[in-house]
Amino acid sequence: MVRCTVAHVSLAALKANFRTITDYVIGVARLSGARPPGLIAVIKANAYGHGAPRVGLALEEAGATMLACADIEEGIALRQAGVGTGILVFGALSVSDVGGLFEYDLTPTISTPGAGEALQRAAAARDTRLRYHLKIDTGMNRLGFRHDNLARTMPAILGSPNLELAAVFTHFATSGDPDDGLFEIQRRRFDEALGQLARLGWPHVPRHAANSAALVRHPGAWFDFVRPGILLYGVVPPAFRRVLPLSPVMTLRSRVVAVKGVRVGESVGYGARFVAGRPTTIAIVPAGYADGLDARLAGRGSVLVAGRRAPIIGSVCMDMITIDVTDIRVETGDEVVLLGAQGDDRIDVQEMADAIGTIPYEILCRVGTRIERVYNSEPYSK
Ligand SMILES: *Cc1c(COP(=O)(O)O)cnc(C)c1O
Repeated sequence: MVRCTVAHVSLAALKANFRTITDYVIGVARLSGARPPGLIAVIKANAYGHGAPRVGLALEEAGATMLACADIEEGIALRQAGVGTGILVFGALSVSDVGGLFEYDLTPTISTPGAGEALQRAAAARDTRLRYHLKIDTGMNRLGFRHDNLARTMPAILGSPNLELAAVFTHFATSGDPDDGLFEIQRRRFDEALGQLARLGWPHVPRHAANSAALVRHPGAWFDFVRPGILLYGVVPPAFRRVLPLSPVMTLRSRVVAVKGVRVGESVGYGARFVAGRPTTIAIVPAGYADGLDARLAGRGSVLVAGRRAPIIGSVCMDMITIDVTDIRVETGDEVVLLGAQGDDRIDVQEMADAIGTIPYEILCRVGTRIERVYNSEPYSK
């Protein structure tokens, strides 16, 4: 460990979250006599910034039915890390890279007629059969076959001799917003699409639809597999914290590298945006926007140091931030928590996201490549 800004990733917390989610869906499904769904663990974008190789192996060990990533390159990285379980690739495929699907045993999503034709050709050329998941667009209007055009588009793909339909899925646009009606419309359209597949001779295809928000919102969206991402990393909507007590997996810590005084009327940092209105003590922390800290945190965000909250002042620099520690006893070398707990206080991803007007996903994914991920198996909460 060289730099003092480090992302600690608790694989124990990750596995505990996996178990909590699994126990929850099993419990709820049993109550209604339904078969509990399997769990496709979403680890795209380097496992939401946590590091896909270690996270993938941990979730495989925890019992994930499948792992899901964004593109073939991410899938290959997982195989190279030693992941043996099924890997679903969500994203659109470019013709140049489909070889990786065969070489590394990845399961593609087919979401356009063109992708279906390209994969049929590629599988035929290798004299093999390729299992795929079919994506239906029920209203997100991103990837997927339009729900209202399946009678035209499905026969070609379902009739492809070298392609084997392993599952069918859709993706919700508004599952996190309980007041939005599109969620119910999408559920209905997905049901209709499944009926359409049945009429075409495919009555029992495994189905999946639920991202994290849909998982907590409605068991009616679970089908045969659920696809949580952000829940695994411990971000859970406040209303569901009691039924799903999950722990944050990542903590972001650094250390104070300098402490100094600023006189009344003097400014701090680029643009002289902070001007001391009283004799002020500041501390310098070696993490900046190059490490993923958003520039908007200056004047809006805080960190924890010596068990207290210290506001981020001035401007977020490329490699440093400045914090106001006037009322806190701080020395060079003291631990600074950017995300996580210290003393009785805690700054979570949701708080940081709210401070700058973004979503927790963006905060996690942006934790920079310069920051070392240190994996430990101790639980996050002490
Ligand atoms: C990212 C993604 C998920 C997981 O979303 P969360 O909101 O993180 O649970 C599920 N399905 C698809 C298709 C995705 O792209």
